[in-house]
Amino acid sequence: MKLHNGNLYWPTTYVPTENEEKAFLPDGQYDAVIAGAGMSGVLCAYTLVEAGLKVALVDKREAGAGSSSANTGLLQYSNDIMLHELINQIGENRAVTFYKLCLEAVNNLEKAADSIPFDVDFKRRNSICFASKEEDAGKLRDEYEALKKHGFPVHFWTEKDLEKHMPFTKPAALVTQRDAEVNPYRFVMGIMQFLREHGADLFEHTEVTNTVEKEDCILLETSRGNLKAKHVIFCTGYEASMAGKSLGTKINRSYAIATEPVADLSAWWDRALIWETDRPYFYLRTTNDNRIIAGGLDEEIPHAPESREIIDRHGKRIADEIRKLFPHLDIAISHAWGASFGESLDNLPFIGKVPGKERTYCLLGYGGNGTVYSMLGAKILADLLQGNVTEGADIVKLER
Ligand SMILES: Cc1cc2nc3c(=O)[nH]c(=O)nc-3n(C[C@H](O)[C@H](O)[C@H](O)COP(=O)(O)OP(=O)(O)OC[C@H]3O[C@@H](n4cnc5c(N)ncnc54)[C@H](O)[C@@H]3O)c2cc1C
Repeated sequence: MKLHNGNLYWPTTYVPTENEEKAFLPDGQYDAVIAGAGMSGVLCAYTLVEAGLKVALVDKREAGAGSSSANTGLLQYSNDIMLHELINQIGENRAVTFYKLCLEAVNNLEKAADSIPFDVDFKRRNSICFASKEEDAGKLRDEYEALKKHGFPVHFWTEKDLEKHMPFTKPAALVTQRDAEVNPYRFVMGIMQFLREHGADLFEHTEVTNTVEKEDCILLETSRGNLKAKHVIFCTGYEASMAGKSLGTKINRSYAIATEPVADLSAWWDRALIWETDRPYFYLRTTNDNRIIAGGLDEEIPHAPESREIIDRHGKRIADEIRKLFPHLDIAISHAWGASFGESLDNLPFIGKVPGKERTYCLLGYGGNGTVYSMLGAKILADLLQGNVTEGADIVKLER
């Protein structure tokens, strides 16, 4: 499956280093093998290595070459499903626990970024979620009340407040604090470097084709031979995996652009991450070299767009959306891409043991908050493999 197409921006910001070819360790020496070296796989490996486990990470492509290279790098504790909506879906205690896990995951992403020996452009940001239409202002007010009640860092802005801070007008906005942005590709590559330096084994161009659970281990059949471990974790993203066949998911596709550096971003309050109440939503952020990264225009088509013409056409529409908000900026597109984008039907990720299996787990962070889910999933799975249970793990388990 081709996960993305077009001209990706983030891989141009990183000079690859050689990954020394290794052989699989003899039978049974790995505590865990992780299938998939994208954001979920490397964060999972990172968390397990930090806990002292022996880990192998295998990917049928090169590390980071899947959806993680198409990611626009917004890190938010708020989700595609708002807290007050999630309360209606799963109850107040569980919804608040889930939101707290997301807030903690953003903090843990910062810690992970700090452990990388080079800069991955992790920066704390406020997020502005504006009401796309008049009737959504009430929804943002409800969300503000729910977040405030449970101690989440948030402000409510009226139309006038927004006008004071930004060059555009909208009926209302919710401003969440303690969010962040990152260069997701450098982040994945940086965690890979950390893993290499901390004893994890990395095998690229190695596909897991089958698994057989035994009493004392799991046998993985791969394109370069068999491998034994105590556990396997599938972090295989939007491609159908052995772990994810029957889950409630929907694969769409989405578009994104990076602009050429923009001369003056001083009218952009705090360089906040910006998104909206409409679904599918339009969103944008800045980079440290003054580009704007923006995305949206999701379509109900599972595969990445094939033609350059389609990607360019959607890229231009995204640039027009930026101009509507910041009419004074001179916007020129430098990169445009389209990519598959997975969502779950209940807006929650799938993390935990695969039903009916003893040694097989998965971490599928479907949704716009995928990186935050990758981090919170890594913690839940590290706990599970060590015989502990994270509070709230049942909210995201596969058999829900
Ligand atoms: C346009 C776009 C914008 C996005 N923006 C954001 C954003 O701003 N913030 C955010 O948090 N999220 C965002 N996301 C979502 C984010 O990109 C995903 O959550 C994230 O990339 C998922 O990481 P992953 O590791 O699960 O998947 P991937 O990065 O796809 O990694 C999965 C890996 O598994 C490997 N694999 C698959 N099958 C096998 C197998 N059988 N054996 C071995 N290896 C295998 C693949 O080769 C791949 O490298 C965005 C996504 C898109 C498409």
